[in-house]
Formats: sequence, C-alpha cells, structure tokens
Amino acid sequence: MTAKLIHGYEVVIGFETHAQLATQSKIFSRAPTAFGAEPNTQACAVDMALPGTLPVMNKKAVECAIKLGLALGSHIAPRSIFARKNYFYPDLPKGYQISQFEIPVVQGGEVSFFLGEEKKTVRLERAHLEEDAGKSLHEDFIGQSGIDLNRAGTPLLEIVTQPDMRSSEEAVAYARELHKVVTWIGICDGNMQEGSFRCDANVSVRKPGGPLGTRREIKNLNSFKNMQQAIDYEIRWQIEEIEDGRTIQQATVLFNPDTGETRAMRTKEDAADYRYFPDPDLPPLVVAQSWVEEVRAGMPELPRQRAARFVADYGLPEYDATTLTQSQDMASYFEAAAQACGQAKLASNWIMGEISRRLNTEEIGIADAKVGSAQLALMIARIADGTISNNAARQVFEVLWSGEADDVDAIIEAKGLKQMNDSGALEAIIDEVIAANPGNVEQYRAGKDKAFNALVGQVMKASKGKANPGQVNELLKSKLA
Ligand code: ADP
Ligand code: MG
Repeated sequence: MTAKLIHGYEVVIGFETHAQLATQSKIFSRAPTAFGAEPNTQACAVDMALPGTLPVMNKKAVECAIKLGLALGSHIAPRSIFARKNYFYPDLPKGYQISQFEIPVVQGGEVSFFLGEEKKTVRLERAHLEEDAGKSLHEDFIGQSGIDLNRAGTPLLEIVTQPDMRSSEEAVAYARELHKVVTWIGICDGNMQEGSFRCDANVSVRKPGGPLGTRREIKNLNSFKNMQQAIDYEIRWQIEEIEDGRTIQQATVLFNPDTGETRAMRTKEDAADYRYFPDPDLPPLVVAQSWVEEVRAGMPELPRQRAARFVADYGLPEYDATTLTQSQDMASYFEAAAQACGQAKLASNWIMGEISRRLNTEEIGIADAKVGSAQLALMIARIADGTISNNAARQVFEVLWSGEADDVDAIIEAKGLKQMNDSGALEAIIDEVIAANPGNVEQYRAGKDKAFNALVGQVMKASKGKANPGQVNELLKSKLA
C-alpha cells in the first residue's frame, strides 16, 4: 500500500469509538437507559453511588460485546476483568468509572471496507465494556451547573483500533463501516446526534518510515461530516506546527463545528494517571464457550457474509456486493428484486445508480423508497425481455417514483415506450434509411465505421427511439452485406 502524503507527511489515525449498547437497563443496575427523560429520573441508588450499593453485571451488555466480537472476527476472552478508572468529576459520583483495562472481553479482530474500489482493513486492538458517566448541565443564564445522572451507568462498548488509518477519508470510511456493523447486529441504535455512537480520532503525522508522531485526540465527532472536517483541520494544523519548528504536545482537543477548528481542551492523561486497579466489587467476567456458540447461532448473516453470498450466488462484482450490504434494508431490497426478475446485475445497477441518487437527494432510507423491489423487478424484467430500452426504463421509473401510476406495463403502454421488436416494421424503416442515405452506404462499404453508426442513428431516429439497437445493428449489417 502506498501512503498518500501531504506536504511530505504521512497521516496516522487510530479510533476509539464508544457504542452505547441497546439494552433496556444499565450495565450494573436495573435503572432504564431511555434517552431524553427529565434529569435524574432514570438513575437509581447504584447509579448515584449511594453507600452500600453494589454493581451487578447486565448479561445483555455482555451478549452485545460477544456479538461484536463474533462479527469482527475477534477473540472473546473466556475470562476478563473489570477495573476502576479513577478520576474526579462532578458527574462521576463514585469517583471512578468501572471499565476494563488489562484484560478486555473482546480482543483483536478487524474491520474491512472499500475506499472507492480499494479494499482496506483496519485491525482492532480491543473492545471493552464500561459504564458511561452522568452529564454536567451548565445553565449559563443563571450561572449555575446541575448534574444529570440519567446517563450514569449506561452500558458502553469502547472499540479501539490500531493506528492503521492513513487519511481522513479512510477514517470516515472505517467509522461508517463500524457504524454499519453495530447497527446491523442490533447492539447499538447508531444515533450519533444523541451520542449513541461517539468517535474519538487519534491523529498524528510523521515523515514516511519514521517513528510514530505524537498524537492529539479529537473528541466530539458527532457526525461523519464533522469527522472529516475535524481530521483534515487537525492534519493541516499539526503539519504547520512542525514546519514552523514547534513540537506537538499530546492533548485532547475539541472540534468546534461552527468554526471548523480543533482546540486543545486539556493535556492528555496517561493510563498511570487513572490509577487503574481491578474492581473488588465485581468478580471476573466468565464467558463460557457454550454461551459464545449460543450467541453465534442467533446472529444474523453479517454484512460481509451477505456480500460474499451476493458474489457467489448472483455473480455480482465485490464492489457491488459491498455497496448493497450497507444496511439490512438495502440488502433485502436488492435480494428481493434480483430474485423476482432474475437479473441481479441490472438490479444492482439500478439500486446503486438511480435509486441511491434519489434516496440521497430526498434524504430517505431505502425502506422508504418510492419504488418497491417488486416494481423495480417488473421494470427490469421488461428491459431484459426487450420490451423497453434502458432509456425508456428511465421514464417508467420516473413515473413510478413520482407516484402518478404504479403499474409498469400500463405505464409502458400509456407512454408508448415499447421497443419495436416487430422485425417487419423495422426492416421497412431500414430499407427507407438505406435508400435515403446512399452516401453513407457507400462509405460504409468502403470500410468507414462512422458511416455505419450514422445509419444506425438514422434508423433509431426514424423509429422514435423504439427500435432495439442490437437488432438494428444486426439487420443493417445483413442488409448491407
Ligand atoms: P490511551 O490508552 O491513551 O487511550 P491507546 O494506546 O489505547 O492510548 O491508543 C488509543 C488510540 O490511539 C488507539 O486507537 C491507537 O491506535 C491510537 N494511537 C496510538 N498512537 C497513535 C499515534 N501515534 N498516532 C495516531 N494514533 C495513535
Ligand atoms: Mg484508550
């Protein structure tokens, strides 16, 4: 792999992503995890760290971790340990966060995706379970701060990559792929605005072949658009600093979407600052192989498995298969259409082209597409059996999408889009065109291909675009032979 250089520097990025797990209750208590409730209505004694309370592991949260590990080819640790990460902050009433440190439940694994047509793989270091903290609410207008502990104890899976990414585009593609996986397997709702999927990007630059540069960690990346902007800004900033003779200090920085800039928030702590130690309140987390197998049996077909099957069963190029497995909805839409019309590649082309374009413009998902998979299949079947041309199909599609009519055959009839498949009528047109264009005929016979194309064009025009171009070619050739 040749790295893309910016002003002679290579970019190095590693991600830490907090996925909020879609469990009903907290990770160590029975309080609900519902988002957006009145402050402090979703926090119980455990979440508030009242004396005498003890954490009890939520089995569902562990199951989510196992699912992720299975989806990404990781090792599921048969025995992992919860640790206390100590720091003081008003929204952390215990004075420590329960997390996993030395032995996380998910180890290794990888995330693969396409960047354009190029396949990339980012190795995972680990994914560990931990609890979220509460929230400080700064009410500037009364000059007071309040603490909302609703989020305290919400289960998180922190997914950490190796520093394997080499550009902001690659980083965003990784984040999109991970987002796809966690939502696909149903462990996270993926809502970035609500903070259910929070990405921190560790960014550094170096001269190619040199040791890793000092990284700065960008927080607060709550959309893919922000992510790209923030990383690009950070890369430029770091290169300028170095070029100006300064050194990069390890730091945590915040991205400000209003200015498009990143700004240092605090110098970065080292692990030692947190005085991690095993939490005596929690026994080791033991995951029996039989449990892993049970979870495996209940897993949906994964995006990459489904993509591989699309290649094997439908003969799709890998690129198409990957694009079509963006979401379960899209994959199912494709599969329904392909099976109904028996034209997988055509179905793929329409979904990746016309349909995706419209979904993007209208900012809707494929589940809300205005042309259903059955309609698309019918229309494609009419292309495949020669009833309509690709161009005519676009007109049919337009009508279907607008909702003016929904019967493919009736639209073809009403708009007079049928291709001329009656070779008698077509031959008559060809004869006329030959008679009217002796110059082109002569040039063609003298070996000029251009003249032949001109004749095909004349025939298509005379047929008002309804002739089948393949058939026109054949007939013309045989008549001119
Ligand atoms: P910490 O414990 O301080 O969070 P880690 O070693 O766990 O540090 O690394 C956190 C993230 O930073 C990982 O995703 C890792 O890949 C990434 N990372 C580490 N070193 C660098 C570097 N020099 N440049 C960019 N990313 C890095
Ligand atoms: Mg870390």
